[in-house]
Amino acid sequence: MTGTREITGQIEYYARAMKAPRIRESAARLADQAREAGWSHEEYLAAVLSREVAAREASGAETRAKAAGFPARKSLEDFNFDHQPGLKRETIAHLATGAFLTEASNVVLLGPPGTGKTHLATALGLRATQLGHRVLFATATGWVTRLQGAHQAGRLPAELIRLRRYGLIIVDEVGYIPFEQDAANLFFQLVSSRYEHASLILTSNLSFARWGDVFGDQVVASAMIDRIVHHAEVVTLKGSSYRLRNHQIESLPSTRPENTAE
Ligand code: ADP
Ligand code: MG
Repeated sequence: MTGTREITGQIEYYARAMKAPRIRESAARLADQAREAGWSHEEYLAAVLSREVAAREASGAETRAKAAGFPARKSLEDFNFDHQPGLKRETIAHLATGAFLTEASNVVLLGPPGTGKTHLATALGLRATQLGHRVLFATATGWVTRLQGAHQAGRLPAELIRLRRYGLIIVDEVGYIPFEQDAANLFFQLVSSRYEHASLILTSNLSFARWGDVFGDQVVASAMIDRIVHHAEVVTLKGSSYRLRNHQIESLPSTRPENTAE
């Protein structure tokens, strides 16, 4: 019979050859567990492989999250739906399944400043990275700067094709700064190139009716909105700024006696 030490050496060798070094550690640990619990050989093999797959998926998701350029990590779990009574949890739960990404449809988050548009866009983006999609986040101005760079270098078409490899592009703050005509044009090309190919999440503090002012042209704005909303979930957030309101609540003198049960 081959000695345990020799077998361990072989496992180490094979794990390294397969570029799965974590198997070396989990194989030994799970072998003890398997002996104690009387697992079948198949159960043991499945357990070892599942640890490796889980670890790979987690590190892939983390790599994609880092590459996405989120301004902060925000999750759907952190989102307080009580502050948005008009927003259906099911709507967000459905978006969180990532079905919109496989359908190459879009999400538009509209609402006043501070109502959680960037938070939700980021949380859905983070979710997308966990589901295996590549994601890029930037403000509308950031995207225009990037596209201008590509345009000036004569490689705009190549850049738009490259960007299609990202399952999700997030465009935050459409409308904070109005676009010059060439910027509006570049933005239009971004939207067109993704139409029915890959998803966009857009956030804006302006209603669609006012996007004409942003793009300097009602016709361009309408054509763009048309392409965006043809396959889209439009989510409208309402009310006052979350932080401002919570800050006010915190700093208001308490009108209730102390130690009242919630
Ligand atoms: P917007 O992009 O609409 O201006 P943000 O998403 O940047 O607003 O929200 C401002 C801050 O308030 C962020 O720190 C965000 O995490 C927080 N916030 C906003 N709405 C909520 C909410 N409903 N639940 C939890 N945090 C929220
Ligand atoms: Mg924002």
